[in-house]
Amino acid sequence: MLIGGIEAGGTKMVCSVANVRVEAFFADCRREEGEDVAGIKILDRISIPTRQPEETLGEMVAYFKKWEIQALGIGCFGPVDLNKKSATYGHITSTPKPGWAYCDMVGTFEKALDIPVGFDTDVNGAVLGEVTWGAAKGCDSAIYITIGTGVGVGVYCNGGLLHGMVHPEGGHVLLTRHPKDTYKGHCPFHENCIEGLAAGPAVEERWGDKAYNLVDRKEVWEMEAYYIAQAVTDYILCYSPEKIILWGGVMHVQQLFPMAREKVKELLNGYVHHPMVEENINQYIVPPALGEDPGILGAIRLGMLEYERWSEEEA
Ligand code: ADP
Ligand code: ZN
Repeated sequence: MLIGGIEAGGTKMVCSVANVRVEAFFADCRREEGEDVAGIKILDRISIPTRQPEETLGEMVAYFKKWEIQALGIGCFGPVDLNKKSATYGHITSTPKPGWAYCDMVGTFEKALDIPVGFDTDVNGAVLGEVTWGAAKGCDSAIYITIGTGVGVGVYCNGGLLHGMVHPEGGHVLLTRHPKDTYKGHCPFHENCIEGLAAGPAVEERWGDKAYNLVDRKEVWEMEAYYIAQAVTDYILCYSPEKIILWGGVMHVQQLFPMAREKVKELLNGYVHHPMVEENINQYIVPPALGEDPGILGAIRLGMLEYERWSEEEA
């Protein structure tokens, strides 16, 4: 069967179609030759620049209409409404992005394509992809942190994606400032949150250059690791994840992984006793195993899960 996936971002919408073997719905499915992950082959993908909703969504609908997809999954930039009982379920909510506030994502595709549509945050989609096929495969609890244009945290907890009252907003946890940091911060809501202090635009504004030109400046990445490690330590203490996946443009700076791991150990200071922290932190805080695709594969998985729910209701 064919299932569609959308990684809906503020700058681009990545749309894809995958062939999904029926076995892919079962945990013991093995990967066959030519498949991207067990049971799944991505057949096609396009990237559509995010402009005004009407034209952007129109182009996306037209793309999916060319395929006979049986379900669609969307991992979406937020904030979003994930409460199925709410009148605005499936909408993007209070985004400052012009035109997109209260845009009905799920309704648009349900109406146009008449198929089940799964929906979650982009980062919840990404953690789902990694839990299903990637670095956190088999984990009951895991988190996915992206440090890029913003910071986002997806949380998989006791075998399901965590929503709660709204959805976790781990990109805005508050941090203790580095004693040498005089930068005002980049978040309009908080003076000292991780997004405002450590996302790509904050690094570039603080040090006055593109991040890739700063690679050799030790002090830049020491400060960055100081902030990332504080947030990761808080997530370990709150969620007790079995795996922590860190990614996004900023994490492409190689030296950040070892620096952040060391700093996390230092901050935990022996309080959390587990071999993953004390002996195997290199396997605990890791990049995704799905390369650049956790988001799109996660979106396809969201589509699969919605298809399953829908089939059970029909039966
Ligand atoms: P988005 O968050 O919009 O999906 P990215 O994850 O690619 O996009 O993050 C973009 C940000 O990451 C940029 O603002 C830039 O500061 C930073 N960035 C991108 N590539 C690199 C790199 N190779 N090294 C360091 N920082 C990078
Ligand atoms: Zn903030």
